[in-house]
Formats: sequence, structure tokens, C-alpha cells
Amino acid sequence: SNSSIREALLKLNDNGYGVCFVTSQRVLVGVLTDGDIRRYLLNNNNLDCEISKVMNRDFFSLPVESDEKTIRRSFSSEIKIIPLCDKQGLLVDYADSFKNHRIPVIEPEFNGQELNYLEDCIKSTWISSQGAYVRRFEMMFEDMHPGMHAIAVSNGTVALHLALKSLGLSDGDEVIVPDLTFAATVNAVLYCNAVPVLCEVDPETWCIDAKEAEMLISERTKAIIPVHLYGQLCDMDAIMDLSKRYNLKLLEDCAESIGSKWKGKPSGMFGDAATFSFFGNKTISTGEGGMLLIRDHNIAKQAILLRDHGMNPNKRYWHDVVGFNYRLTNLQAAIGVAQMERLDEFIAKKRKIASIYKENLKHIDCIEKFPTENIDNIHSHWLYTVILRQDIDRDRVIDLLMEVGVEARPVFYSMHIMPPYKSFKKSAKHTNSLFISKQGISFPSSVGISLNEIKHVCDSLIRILGDLK
Ligand SMILES: *Cc1c(COP(=O)(O)O)cnc(C)c1O
Repeated sequence: SNSSIREALLKLNDNGYGVCFVTSQRVLVGVLTDGDIRRYLLNNNNLDCEISKVMNRDFFSLPVESDEKTIRRSFSSEIKIIPLCDKQGLLVDYADSFKNHRIPVIEPEFNGQELNYLEDCIKSTWISSQGAYVRRFEMMFEDMHPGMHAIAVSNGTVALHLALKSLGLSDGDEVIVPDLTFAATVNAVLYCNAVPVLCEVDPETWCIDAKEAEMLISERTKAIIPVHLYGQLCDMDAIMDLSKRYNLKLLEDCAESIGSKWKGKPSGMFGDAATFSFFGNKTISTGEGGMLLIRDHNIAKQAILLRDHGMNPNKRYWHDVVGFNYRLTNLQAAIGVAQMERLDEFIAKKRKIASIYKENLKHIDCIEKFPTENIDNIHSHWLYTVILRQDIDRDRVIDLLMEVGVEARPVFYSMHIMPPYKSFKKSAKHTNSLFISKQGISFPSSVGISLNEIKHVCDSLIRILGDLK
């Protein structure tokens, strides 16, 4: 307690927690935060003053024998570090919210109008798929993607299925899909009895490689589905060129790329159709939900028909085609509207998170690749993902991060190594896909993540990689 504020600042700088404990003969007498010092200095005070003049004497602590639950419940947005003292008041230990609190790889944020709009649905009893929020939600997508028709559906997977069905895909048609994606992209092709053809990915974008795709084209190839992995746009110039030259339907899987842009245009505007997902872990979430964008007016009409059991809109209970029930509820759409109102804010936050990760990790030579960003594209960084050097045991890194409360996630498996999809790989070796899948790791990327939490993730990662070397 008789040290100077200068010494306290050095301690704070060292421990990175933004708080230090003040003792007098090992008895805890006060707590000092960087905010306390800032306020003190702003009053034109100097660094040589004794800590005891500035510290908080009215601090929160717990007995060292407190059980875990009591400790966990005492954490709040203000209290992240709790001193633990014995009966004599001697400082024995501290509880750190990171030790007790897992930082999830991603969690949704619902602190806009979500509850108000939901309440509106409940009070009005418009909870099913006929309410006004469904169309409002669709219109927000149409505003964002001029020239496209938006059709809200129950999830991202059925959006893909409905897109392929509406575009006329059927038995035996070949569809080129990336080898590195979430399985839904490939499953949707199989639901149409079409044949997915797995394509190698580009080592820079981790997305479908247009040159490799061209080599897979046969007379039965009808469509190509670029997936903008983790929010990174595929090389759309090359893909659009390919689809034109070979007359392929172009369907963008934008489940992970809402808010990403390529040469000023948002993802979802480059082809015949595009799909989005609003699953709980996606950038915009409605619990479950999806959106289909279709360029052609008549194909969009067909998709709307198929979404609603294929029922003739002018003749009730008359069916000309076998349709589906792929509708989104007004409740989900209400959440979606509230989420979309904050999309720009979410994307700005995601990009900020990415830049902090990059800043903290750019010197680490165990990281082989960072997400690419150039002037042509705006990366929405759904999940901040890097690729570890070949010799680093990625799964061990994930386990060790978990021990310090950090949930990290491996990149998807290459599709071609899994039993249901083995037969859909043609000749190439897919070394890029395998390498990215084996060494790729995603870090906590929730919109609500704090600077402290990101710092904890980076510090832990750097320590773990240092230990593993
Ligand atoms: C999440 C996701 C989907 C599927 O979306 P759901 O809403 O979960 O059905 C499809 N493709 C990709 C690339 C995804 O990440």
C-alpha cells in the first residue's frame, strides 16, 4: 500500500487484467483498477503518489474456501477478478472469470428490438408464417440485394434445396461444390438426386478454386455452388466467367458471408440464386431460419410455390407439383428484422474483432495463414479463423485452449474423406482442402466478445504455441 502509483501501473501493465490488489503485510487492504488511476491522473495528479491515497477500500472479496458456484455467480460485467482471502484477511488467491467462464466460439446477441417484436407477434397472435414480419424481413434482403427476390425459409439447408429445385436441377445433373464446406451444401444437391462433384479449394481464399472447377466440368454439369467460407468471398470474377462460358447455374452459399462484399457488391448478388442461414451461430440469427435470393422473377414464383406445399395460389388445395413446407414463422422473422437492423453494427464489430486478433497474432510464426483481405473485398469474418503451421498439433492446441476457458473450433473436415461423400471426388488430390481442414482453427468471434476476452484468447494461444515448440 505504500508503493507508488507508478509501480501499480507497471503491475497493471504486466498482468493485463486491469486490476491489482493492494496489501499491507499481505493483508488485503484495497483494490486498484486502471480506471481509478486514469481518473486520478486526469485530476492533474502525479505518478509518485502513494497507492493508499487512490485505492478503493470498499472492495469485493470472497473467503478462500467459497465453493465454485458462489464464485461463479459473483462475477459480473464489473467484477471479473475476485480476491480470495483467509479468515485473517490475508490475500491467498484470486478467482478469474476466465477460469470459470468459458468464452464460446460464437453466441448470438439479442439486445436490440428482438423482444419487442416478438411480443408484438404474440399479442397480435400472428405467430405462424403469414404475419407481416416475414415480408418485412424479406424486403430487408431485397433492399440490400437490388434485383433479387427474397424468399424466407425455415433454414439454410432447405434454402439450398429449394434453390436447386427451383433452378430445375434433377436426377443425374452434376453440381460442382467445394470439398471444404459444411455438409449441408453437398446434402442439398443429393436431395435433388443430382450428383455433387467435389472441387479442390484455393490456398488463399480457402474457397472453391475456379481453375480446378473448370477441369471437373462435363456435359452433365448444370450448376456450381461457391461457398464463401467464414465470410471470405470466393474469386467471383473467375466463377462468374466460368458459369457464363459453360452455361452453369450459379448458386452462392452465403450462409457464412452475410455482410461480406466483393468489389463493392454484397455476397448473394453474383449469380442466379443465393442462400443464407440464420442458425444460432451465424452472424444474424433467428434460432433456425434461412433466406433464398432468386434473380429471375418466374423462378422466384416457382420457389414461393414450392415453399408452400406446391399449392396453386389461385385454387386452394390444388397441387400441380410436389412441394414442401419450408416456411419461416413470423416469430423467427420478427427476430430476423431486429437482427438485420443491427447488421452494419455487427459487421463493424466482427471486423474490429478480426483486426484485434490480427494485431495480436501477426508476429506468431506458428501461424501459417491469416484470412486474406484486399481492397476488392470486405470480409465479414463470421468466425475468425487461421491456419497453423504444418508441424503444430492443432487438436492439442484446441484442448489446451479449452483448459483456460477458451472454446476454439476446428475447420470442417474435407467432404471427400467422409463415408457418404467419398465417391464424389474425381481425380485431384485436394491437398489444400486437407491441409486447411487439418490445421485450421477458429477463435471466439461473438459480436459481444470483450477486449479482455480477446486478449485472454491471444495470450493463451501465444503461451500454448510457445510451450508446444
Ligand atoms: C450453416 C451453413 C449451412 C446450413 O444452414 P442451416 O441453417 O444450419 O441449415 C449451409 N452452408 C453453410 C456453408 C453453412 O455454414
